[in-house]
Amino acid sequence: MTAKLFYDTPYAKEFDAELLSQTEHDGNYHIILDRTLFYPGGGGQPCDLGTLNGVEVIEVIEHREDIIHITSSPVEGKTIHGALNWERRFEHMQQHLGEHLFAGSLWNLYHIHTARMRIEGDNVSIDTDIPADMNAILEAESAANEAVWADIPVEVIFPDMAEIRELARKLPPENAIPPVRIIRVEGVDYVPCCGIHVSSTGQCGLVKVISCENHKGGSRIYLRCGRAAYRWLSSLWHEVRKAEAELVCGYDGINDKIASLKSQIHALKSQNEALTVRYLKPLAELLLGNAEICGQYRVIAHIMPNSSQDEIKHLFKLITDNDKDSIAFLAGVNEEGVFIMAGCNKENKNVDVRPAFRKAIEILGGKGGGSTFSAQGHGKNSEAVNTAVNEAVKILKDSIR
Ligand SMILES: [Zn+2]
Repeated sequence: MTAKLFYDTPYAKEFDAELLSQTEHDGNYHIILDRTLFYPGGGGQPCDLGTLNGVEVIEVIEHREDIIHITSSPVEGKTIHGALNWERRFEHMQQHLGEHLFAGSLWNLYHIHTARMRIEGDNVSIDTDIPADMNAILEAESAANEAVWADIPVEVIFPDMAEIRELARKLPPENAIPPVRIIRVEGVDYVPCCGIHVSSTGQCGLVKVISCENHKGGSRIYLRCGRAAYRWLSSLWHEVRKAEAELVCGYDGINDKIASLKSQIHALKSQNEALTVRYLKPLAELLLGNAEICGQYRVIAHIMPNSSQDEIKHLFKLITDNDKDSIAFLAGVNEEGVFIMAGCNKENKNVDVRPAFRKAIEILGGKGGGSTFSAQGHGKNSEAVNTAVNEAVKILKDSIR
């Protein structure tokens, strides 16, 4: 049986203990001491890490009455000096209390119940039983921070079950054996908990909501508290400083600058489109004038070097909008390969360009598809573009004769 020093002296960082047993399991060592400061994890709080006689502890678990310290090499000696990774433990204490302050506030203000909480790295995640809207979440965040600044003592008490049933935000599990450990923060929270906390709310430092998503009929809310919240705000500050420098404005002008840049991009796109149409129009007319007559249809096959997908699409539209009986087979070639577009005016129900298009795509070693009147795709084999277009047009002409 291991004495749980972590509950009696939650601020102690080092301890001495007697080695009770050390056994090898799958290349690791399971070490049991008569007493320990290493919290084995539980209630959403991860286990402590640190060293035993200088050997790294990689995990701590609870098994019946024992706390098992897992290491990857054996510990020497019968008397053990243990040292916690205090930075990690203290952050867990801050994060865990911050979670209580937030969940307690969410319950007090909106009667939204927390079904589960977990500390993972810098994040605390909380799952609620019903959806929590952002307004409720921010109100709870504000109340949690008011509790931090009021610097209220964090009490560990073992009341009788009648009091727990009356006052607790949630009831202990059915199989819990009294006395039940309750964490009480006067006016804010009263809840069964096996975790370790800072001793007053002020030491939590800050409770910051990061994000919220829908989860199993409720919400999953991500928080950061204490030093983890400070780290997050610090990195945010660095990012904002970069954006300020890039946009040449203060942080409160960033959104206006982005809106202005977006409208400039939109205007430039429209201008670019108008210019493209203007310079492609004479080409469309020339191609229509020189088209091969095939029964009632005018067949146009054209390869445009150094052209973009957008240019091919515009040229296609100019041709097929202009002449309802035109059938266009266009290929644009650039460093990325070949973009191919085949079709006719969509009112033309007697033409099916797909067999011809498929032949071209096969020769180009590409992918694509579409409808009877419009198909498009990409191919890598630029050298075969002439063959692809010629072979495809042959199939097309046979199909409309
Ligand atoms: Zn707790």
